[in-house]
Formats: sequence, C-alpha cells, structure tokens
Amino acid sequence: MEKKIILIVGGGFGGVACALALAKDSRLYAKIMLVSDKPHLEYTPTLYQIVVGRSPLETCIPLSEIFSDGNVVCVADTIISVNLLEKKALGSSGSSYQFDYVVLALGSQTSYFNIPGLANFSLGFKSITEAVQLNRHILKLFNECKAPHGSADTKMHFVIVGAGASGVELAGELVCYTETLAKKYDIPKSLITIDLIEATSRILSSFLPTVALKVEKRLHGLGLNIFTNRPMQRAEVQELHLKGLTMKSDTIIWTAGTEPNELFAKIAGLTFDNKGRVIVDEYLRTRNFKHVFVVGDGAATPYSGMAQTAIREGTVAAKNIMNTLANSSLVIYEPKRPYYSLPVGPGWAATLIGPITVYGKIGWLLRKLANLRYFISILPFTKAIIVFRGGKILCKNCKICAPE
Ligand SMILES: Cc1cc2nc3c(=O)[nH]c(=O)nc-3n(C[C@H](O)[C@H](O)[C@H](O)COP(=O)(O)OP(=O)(O)OC[C@H]3O[C@@H](n4cnc5c(N)ncnc54)[C@H](O)[C@@H]3O)c2cc1C
Repeated sequence: MEKKIILIVGGGFGGVACALALAKDSRLYAKIMLVSDKPHLEYTPTLYQIVVGRSPLETCIPLSEIFSDGNVVCVADTIISVNLLEKKALGSSGSSYQFDYVVLALGSQTSYFNIPGLANFSLGFKSITEAVQLNRHILKLFNECKAPHGSADTKMHFVIVGAGASGVELAGELVCYTETLAKKYDIPKSLITIDLIEATSRILSSFLPTVALKVEKRLHGLGLNIFTNRPMQRAEVQELHLKGLTMKSDTIIWTAGTEPNELFAKIAGLTFDNKGRVIVDEYLRTRNFKHVFVVGDGAATPYSGMAQTAIREGTVAAKNIMNTLANSSLVIYEPKRPYYSLPVGPGWAATLIGPITVYGKIGWLLRKLANLRYFISILPFTKAIIVFRGGKILCKNCKICAPE
C-alpha cells in the first residue's frame, strides 16, 4: 500500500504539536512533512527576554532538534500558494509539495488597523527578528543619548501601544531594563519615561478585572505611566497622535493588532469568519474539504490566539487524520479556556492555577515551570534543560547574537 502524505504548513505551536502527535501514533503508515518558512519554532512566551538583552536560545527552538528522530521530514520553505483541489502546495523555492492531507498552521501577523503612519513609524514585537531589532534600537538610543550633545528628549521616551498580555509583559521588563541601562550609561533615571497606551477603558481587557487591577498596581509601582481610552490615530516621525493627546517619542512599540496570516485569504475554497479566520467543523476540518485541517491562530475557534489552543488543536487534527486513515470515528474538538501566566517585570507574575490566581514570586516560578514543561514535551530531556537554561544567558554571551 502506498504511503499517504500528510503535509503540515507552519512550524509554530500548532504545526509542531500536530507533527509530534502524528509521529507518535503507533498506527502511522504515512509520510509526515512539515514545511515552515523558519527552521525553528519561536517560543513567544519568552520573546520579551530578547528585547531586554537576554539570549534567544530559550525562544528559538530548532525544528531539527524537535524532530531529531527523523520521523518527520522538515523543510524550510515559504509556501506561496495552496491548491486544495489538486492537493498541491507551492514554495517560494520553486518546490511543489503534493499531499493527501494538509494541516494549515500558519499563525497570525501584525495588523495596523489602517492607522496612518503606524507601519512605517512603529516597531513590532511579534517575532525573534522584531525583538532583536527592538533591543538594538534601545541600545542605539542609550548610546546616542550618552554621546556628546546627545539629549534625552524623544530618545528616552518609550511608548508601548496596546495593553494586552504582550504589551504588559514587555512594559514590565522594559522598566527594569532601562533602569539597568541608565546605570550603565550613566544617564539619570529621571530622564526615562515609559508609557503604556490602551484604546479601551482598562488594561488586560480579556482578563478578569481583579487581575487587571493587581497588574496595574504592579506597573504603577515599577514607575510606568498608563493611559486608557486613548485609541491610536496617527503616527509620524518621532510623534504619535492618540485620541486627545500627542506624544513625542523615538520609540513607538505596536503590540495591539493581529490578524490571520495573509496566505489563508489567498487559498481558494476556504470560508472565513468576520475576523478573517478560517471556519472549521467540530473535527477542525474546513467546510468544503475533508482532507484540509486548520489549527491555531488562523482557525475560527474559541480561545484562538493562544499557544495553548494551537497545541490542543494540532493534537486533535493529528488524531483525526490518523482516525480517518484507519476508518475510525473522529474526535470532536472541545475548546478549553487556556490558563494564563503573565510575567510583569523580573521575578513577578500573575499565574492562574485552578480557580485562583497566584501573584508575585510564586506566580513567577510557576510560569518558569510551565516553560520547562513545554520544552520537555517537545524535546529530549537534556535538550529541554539546555533550552530552559538558555534564557538565563545574556545576549552577548550567546551563540546566536554577535556582541554589540
Ligand atoms: C509576544 C507574544 C507573547 C505570547 N505569549 C503567549 C503566552 O504566554 N501564552 C500563550 O498561550 N500564547 C501566547 N502568545 C500567542 C501565541 O504565540 C500564538 O497564539 C501561537 O503562536 C499560535 O500558534 P500557531 O501555530 O497558530 O502559529 P505560530 O506559532 O505563529 O506558527 C506559525 C508558523 O507558520 C510559519 N509560517 C507563516 N507563514 C508561512 C508560509 N507562508 N509558509 C511556511 N511557513 C509559514 C511561521 O514562521 C511559524 O513558524 C504570544 C504571542 C506573542 C506575539
């Protein structure tokens, strides 16, 4: 019997979970191919560490290490089109990938909500590349400020737009990082301002109000300014215009908007919800094609936009492909509310366990344990420990980044 080909597009949380679950299934008699535009998985929960000068080792996990046993063929290529009728995907390398089943795990991308100037005059915080750029940008500003005739003015004013989980995480770390840099560059701490901007009436609008309040208190305690009800209207060189307020800054960090990967909209035969996410059935298959599965940020399921959801969906899609091949009945995907663990500055996190939220050092330790648990779930134990310890290394000592 000829082996079926299962193609997974996207080597992030959903794609990796799906490939691992397929590879572990003892019934497997198929070729699993994972095509991703990056040769690594980006562990986004620790992305903020790169911005504050820590090593990307904990965030950048090579796919070759995850799939070192050779059960999954990993290919680095950017898929530019997918023909669901002909069961074929085309990569920017010119390679064509035939499949019997395909899992689209393409994730999401930054959305600027058509705000004028924003794409040109803001920095992003969604990928390792953007986090490294942000780190370099901050160091450059401190160098310029320290230089003869350098002024703090717009250089030491940092503005984070979007007070969701990633904006809050970044804000907490940035306060402490800029304090360390101020000491190092001998710049008075009082010259540094960090503002967190939110369009709605409170920070962390998708979290419980009690959690948001505690975190807000923590951010104020760290010396950060919070502006709510200030939707962004326009960005210009060194200037941002919010509703009723204009600010001068060299650093506008946009953390507010995401939308499904643009490739989804280019694939004929998919149907979408009003957020541009692909509509899937209870088995995570697309409406029109029973051999096409969508998982992660691109799927119109409850709680999408979270790594934990993408992982669960990837695992269920894998099970359903194997069950289809084995002529068994399919598993219904049951959405589950993800738990959260929100670090706010070094050594402090708000972590949900069961019905309670733990704050502070214990919350922080639980967060670290959650990272370790994920690494152990995808890597051999010793490699998982190396990755976990990688987050402690300063960037200048790590193999990935050249010293500044
Ligand atoms: C700063 C930050 C912090 C976060 N923290 C958390 C957290 O603490 N907890 C949590 O649950 N969630 C968190 N998230 C959300 C989480 O990262 C996403 O929900 C998750 O990554 C979605 O998984 P996915 O598999 O859909 O997409 P991704 O993990 O983004 O994977 C998509 C993959 O597809 C690849 N790809 C894209 N286009 C192509 C193409 N054309 N061809 C080939 N490959 C392609 C990408 O390179 C990527 O490898 C965070 C997100 C950010 C930005």
